[in-house]
Amino acid sequence: GPIRKMSDATKKVAKGDFNVQIENKKIRKDEIGTLTENFNMMVRELESNEYLSKEFMSNVSHEFKTPIASIQGFANLLKDKDLSEKDKEEYIDIIIEESGRLANLSNNIQQLSKLENKKGLIQKQKVAIDEQIRKCIIILNNKLEEKNIEIGMDEDKDVFLNVNEDMMHQVWINLINNAIKYTDDSGRIDIIIDEFKDRVVVEVKDTGRGIKEENVDKIFEKFYQEDSSHNSEGNGLGLAIVKKIVELHKGTIEVKSKIGEGSSFIVTIPKDEDKLEN
Ligand code: ADP
Repeated sequence: GPIRKMSDATKKVAKGDFNVQIENKKIRKDEIGTLTENFNMMVRELESNEYLSKEFMSNVSHEFKTPIASIQGFANLLKDKDLSEKDKEEYIDIIIEESGRLANLSNNIQQLSKLENKKGLIQKQKVAIDEQIRKCIIILNNKLEEKNIEIGMDEDKDVFLNVNEDMMHQVWINLINNAIKYTDDSGRIDIIIDEFKDRVVVEVKDTGRGIKEENVDKIFEKFYQEDSSHNSEGNGLGLAIVKKIVELHKGTIEVKSKIGEGSSFIVTIPKDEDKLEN
């Protein structure tokens, strides 16, 4: 009897139904009882796994659909033998751009799912934070020049933190990239680093369009974008990744923003003193 019940329940789970629970009324103390309890626990665990949820799947497919449709459409147009060189160039550029968007999307999803599996265990090393941020600025320099955005940062601040180098690099890239994306041409970005006895605070401040007060809490959610028209470059995963990384370092991230005036993202990372010595 109980084995048959479990077998039926397993089939349901295999089909993606994570609402099943096997009754264990008599609270059996034998192996079957333990197996039932473990089975129920496993299904609850699966149900709470966001990556298997319908909402997550629907968001992912939605994000994939638009660029794929666009690539399909323009690839078909390219088949036209009478197409002018100029149109051809334009369509090819769109296809390249949209494939980039797809590559970004899958990278971001993979990154986020890896981060969420880390559960606090990360490898850290001593990193010169100001130098790391300067490297990120160099990487993003083309975008800054394209929009004629000036970026300011204090000179010669030797600030060290014990962090995961690659992850922290991603934090600065995502924050500065956003500051560029959401700031109009000829705007300004400032990066302010403050060192305290027990923590380092980095502020990325822009003169961009700002974020509506009621949306400030939502911007860290996966796939959330204030402008849902999907016109802008991005997929709404950047800040979710930033938040996850900051949390893995036991830090915090805070936002101050005013519509039309700009936004400020303030990252605080605690010092990991005993490991900074070497
Ligand atoms: P996206 O790929 O859309 O940039 P993010 O997760 O990085 O995704 O950001 C989520 C949303 O938060 C953005 O779509 C935008 O609406 C808002 N946002 C993020 N950074 C800024 C900023 N510096 N200025 C204004 N809005 C921002």
